[in-house]
Amino acid sequence: MSIATLESYIRCVPDFPKQGILFRDITPLLNQQLPATIDALANLLTDEEWSTIDAIVGIESRGFIFASALAYAKNKGFLVVRKPNKLPPPVHQVSYDLEYGQDRLEISSQFQPQRVLIVDDVLATGGTLNAACQLCSLAGHDIQQTMTLINLADLNQFLWQGRKPRTLFSYGA
Ligand code: AMP
Repeated sequence: MSIATLESYIRCVPDFPKQGILFRDITPLLNQQLPATIDALANLLTDEEWSTIDAIVGIESRGFIFASALAYAKNKGFLVVRKPNKLPPPVHQVSYDLEYGQDRLEISSQFQPQRVLIVDDVLATGGTLNAACQLCSLAGHDIQQTMTLINLADLNQFLWQGRKPRTLFSYGA
């Protein structure tokens, strides 16, 4: 299955959830092409790169879909970065800026340091992925790679250590 064919299952919805946002709806892709999408994401890393990863970190909530399927496909552990007040203590917390206001993400601090790949669905400003990288770093994990299904490159502002994620579909820039 070509990347262009997979891309055709992403629906662009103007002015959702707010005026001026072009929302990328991945639900048709999940419904029709989930196995092919996971295979394509897995192919963004070489076997050698996969051999350096112990666990895949999913960012709540759509990151969980891809991270957990990749963990199964590549026989890796799974770790979660969650929205506030979902994880029991002990946790690390990081606050980060949104377009309006602030948000917070958390990771459990109960696990030994691991070599990780961090996964989310969409990279826009990069604030969310950057916060997840900070959390992994606080927890002592070694960030080997980051990965998003979609990169809206024109919107990128915050890239952890200037590193670009591996991406299946990139728009702009
Ligand atoms: P950001 O922190 O700005 O990189 O935003 C990334 C998060 O917001 C991801 O977890 C996405 O789920 C969501 N997101 C941002 N922009 C879009 C968009 N245009 N379409 C769908 N989801 C988006």
